[in-house]
Amino acid sequence: MPFPIKVCVVCEEEFELKPDKPGFANRCPKCSAPEAEEPTGKERMDADELKSSREANAARRQAIKDLLYTQK
Ligand SMILES: [Zn+2]
Repeated sequence: MPFPIKVCVVCEEEFELKPDKPGFANRCPKCSAPEAEEPTGKERMDADELKSSREANAARRQAIKDLLYTQK
Protein backbone atom coordinates (compact mmCIF):
# COMPACT_ATOMS: atom_id res chain seq x y z
CA MET A 1 0.00 0.00 0.00
CA PRO A 2 1.47 3.38 -0.97
CA PHE A 3 1.90 6.09 1.59
CA PRO A 4 -0.37 9.13 1.33
CA ILE A 5 1.20 12.03 -0.57
CA LYS A 6 1.21 15.28 1.36
CA VAL A 7 2.35 18.76 0.42
CA CYS A 8 4.86 20.28 2.79
CA VAL A 9 3.62 23.54 4.34
CA VAL A 10 7.18 24.89 4.46
CA CYS A 11 8.71 24.15 1.04
CA GLU A 12 5.48 23.12 -0.73
CA GLU A 13 7.10 19.96 -2.03
CA GLU A 14 5.23 16.68 -2.14
CA PHE A 15 6.35 13.95 0.18
CA GLU A 16 5.20 10.55 1.35
CA LEU A 17 3.66 10.65 4.79
CA LYS A 18 5.18 7.55 6.29
CA PRO A 19 3.80 6.32 9.62
CA ASP A 20 7.22 6.48 11.24
CA LYS A 21 8.08 9.93 9.85
CA PRO A 22 9.39 12.15 12.63
CA GLY A 23 8.20 15.71 13.12
CA PHE A 24 5.05 17.34 11.80
CA ALA A 25 2.64 15.46 9.54
CA ASN A 26 2.28 18.49 7.27
CA ARG A 27 6.03 18.96 6.75
CA CYS A 28 8.37 16.94 4.58
CA PRO A 29 11.19 15.02 6.32
CA LYS A 30 13.68 17.72 5.27
CA CYS A 31 11.68 20.53 6.87
CA SER A 32 10.92 18.42 9.93
CA ALA A 33 14.59 18.05 10.75
CA PRO A 34 15.69 20.40 13.52
CA GLU A 35 18.67 21.68 11.53
CA ALA A 36 17.07 21.40 8.10
CA GLU A 37 18.84 23.16 5.30
CA GLU A 38 16.61 26.00 4.23
CA PRO A 39 18.37 28.27 1.76
CA THR A 40 15.88 31.13 2.07
CA GLY A 41 15.80 31.06 5.86
CA LYS A 42 19.58 30.86 6.08
CA GLU A 43 20.13 33.70 3.66
CA ARG A 44 17.77 35.91 5.60
CA MET A 45 19.63 35.11 8.81
CA ASP A 46 22.99 35.82 7.18
CA ALA A 47 21.72 39.15 5.90
CA ASP A 48 20.55 40.06 9.39
CA GLU A 49 23.86 39.00 10.86
CA LEU A 50 25.72 41.00 8.24
CA LYS A 51 23.60 44.05 8.94
CA SER A 52 24.00 43.84 12.70
CA SER A 53 27.74 43.24 12.42
CA ARG A 54 28.05 46.21 10.08
CA GLU A 55 26.15 48.36 12.57
CA ALA A 56 28.33 47.04 15.38
CA ASN A 57 31.46 47.90 13.41
CA ALA A 58 30.18 51.40 12.72
CA ALA A 59 29.35 51.89 16.38
CA ARG A 60 32.79 50.60 17.38
CA ARG A 61 34.54 52.92 14.93
CA GLN A 62 32.52 55.85 16.25
CA ALA A 63 33.40 54.93 19.83
CA ILE A 64 37.12 54.71 18.98
CA LYS A 65 36.95 58.03 17.19
CA ASP A 66 35.26 59.66 20.18
CA LEU A 67 37.86 58.15 22.48
CA LEU A 68 40.76 59.45 20.38
CA TYR A 69 39.35 62.95 20.17
CA THR A 70 38.51 63.22 23.85
CA GLN A 71 41.96 62.02 24.92
CA LYS A 72 43.85 64.54 22.81
ZN1 LIG B 1 9.48 20.75 3.15
